[in-house]
Amino acid sequence: MWQAVAVLAQTSTHDVANQAPPIVPYNVFDADLALGEALERESGTWGVDRVRDAGELAGTPEALAHSERAEANEPRLRTHDRYGHRIDEVELDPSWHWLLRQAVEREIHCLPWRDPRPGAHVVRAGLMFVWSQVNSGVMCPVSMTYSVIPALRENPDLAAEWEPRLTRPSYEDGALSGMAMTEKQGGSDVRANTSRAEPAGDGAYEITGHKWFCSYPPCDVFLTLAQAPAGLSCFLIEGDDPGFRIQRLKDKLGTRSLPSSEVEFHGVRGRLIGEEGRGVRTILRMVNHTRLDCLIGSAAGMRWGVAQAVHHARNRSAFGRVLVEQPLMTNVLADLAVESEAATAAAMRVARSYDEDDAAFRRFATAVMKYWVCKRASQHALEASECLGGNGYVEESGMPRLVRDSPLNSIWEGSGNVAALDVLRATLREPEGLPAFLAECELARGADHRLDAHLDRLAARAPTDPEFEARRLVGDLAVALQASLLVRNAPGPVADAFCAGRLAEPGRVFGNLPAGVDADAVVERALAA
Ligand SMILES: Cc1cc2nc3c(=O)[nH]c(=O)nc-3n(C[C@H](O)[C@H](O)[C@H](O)COP(=O)(O)OP(=O)(O)OC[C@H]3O[C@@H](n4cnc5c(N)ncnc54)[C@H](O)[C@@H]3O)c2cc1C
Repeated sequence: MWQAVAVLAQTSTHDVANQAPPIVPYNVFDADLALGEALERESGTWGVDRVRDAGELAGTPEALAHSERAEANEPRLRTHDRYGHRIDEVELDPSWHWLLRQAVEREIHCLPWRDPRPGAHVVRAGLMFVWSQVNSGVMCPVSMTYSVIPALRENPDLAAEWEPRLTRPSYEDGALSGMAMTEKQGGSDVRANTSRAEPAGDGAYEITGHKWFCSYPPCDVFLTLAQAPAGLSCFLIEGDDPGFRIQRLKDKLGTRSLPSSEVEFHGVRGRLIGEEGRGVRTILRMVNHTRLDCLIGSAAGMRWGVAQAVHHARNRSAFGRVLVEQPLMTNVLADLAVESEAATAAAMRVARSYDEDDAAFRRFATAVMKYWVCKRASQHALEASECLGGNGYVEESGMPRLVRDSPLNSIWEGSGNVAALDVLRATLREPEGLPAFLAECELARGADHRLDAHLDRLAARAPTDPEFEARRLVGDLAVALQASLLVRNAPGPVADAFCAGRLAEPGRVFGNLPAGVDADAVVERALAA
């Protein structure tokens, strides 16, 4: 017998060595010094405890398990009941409800509208930042509900009817809002919408048409666009209208926990918001806020990727040395970390402009930073996942989900090109936007010669073909704001690495920081114990 045990010991293959331990539990907020500092800097000090509380739950095995389950058990559409009645119900895993309930009870969908004190949008951004790291799909209805209020207020009667429910922090008695703009023939070009709105005679309209994308069809209300007699107009419709039909759910690359659908409207009752024929102007009030959330969501994804990458590298050795101590890995991690910190700083600064009477900066900076941070997110996610080697390619690590989810914010609410062109248009139509943006960048003038040179180049820029060059122009503006924020507020090594790697010697891929930057200090800061 002892012989058999000895043979077994010799042939055993199940020793587990050199694998990083699970990162959970960790407080997602406390581990993120850049977020904590930004929250305080941008007038959100009063919300620190709330965000910390959300951060603690976000980093528990329980939250992780709910997220994994909601992703694995994808939503299913049931169009009919057993007797053949049309029901159009979306079945959702209980974990989806757990995740969404947490967001609603923490007021991520409503805080600034319920409690409009200075810093409310910033505190809410902090909460959004933390909870997005648990599951980004669930933040879609949260974001749309937060964003609908400014548009809804254009119709005081509708606001009086719906705002109390939409801003209630109760999963049972509250309400959620979605948005249905995109049609088969065009999403960016919403003026090509074909859905029709006929006056019903009682002040309401009957809407007939289709929408090619409509996320979270279980919402209580939706804003939609349709062609009324005076042109494209914005309407509120209710999800339980018998004419609201869900055709099918989309089989998507990512955000698989979130049901996104195609819908048809068969004489759905719509109530006008804003003026007839001015629908785009009205729905843009919503879109500006969802764009802010795209920015926050992408910054949050970067942050999650950095936390996983640094944790892994601190706990994994190769060639006799811990990964985090190997110079080239330090370069990659530091580069990812400064990108993430720059995105966090920008997201929180832009969120503050929603608290202030700062419309010129707000509109322009939202468009610039939405374009840039969302565009950077996918490359960042891929590189962060590679830091985990083969483990990063395996579902259990969560990194494949990060990679799959990362392109969405760039497509949604103005795809890359459309977002960049929107910035160009804004420079012409809202002439105070660009100067307000540049004034913020100039606040750091004199503190770093590389930023000074970049600002000089920006001022001297005279594009020969602005539309063709739009991505380059907007990207240059975005890194100017990020550099300005970091130079003024971040520790020296972070600001220096950003200016070196983004302004002076921009790298082709992550991990191209030039020699001389204090990458160890950047990585040390990136994941506080
Ligand atoms: C997961 C998911 C959820 C979604 N949920 C919703 C939702 O809830 N409600 C909703 O209304 N929509 C939703 N959408 C739709 C989304 O908003 C659109 O897909 C997006 O606006 C792009 O529109 P499109 O798909 O028609 O692409 P198009 O408008 O056809 O654009 C195709 C490409 O052309 C580029 N392009 C367009 N115009 C120009 C131009 N002038 N110059 C240069 N390039 C240009 C775009 O940047 C893009 O790269 C969702 C999409 C996804 C993927």
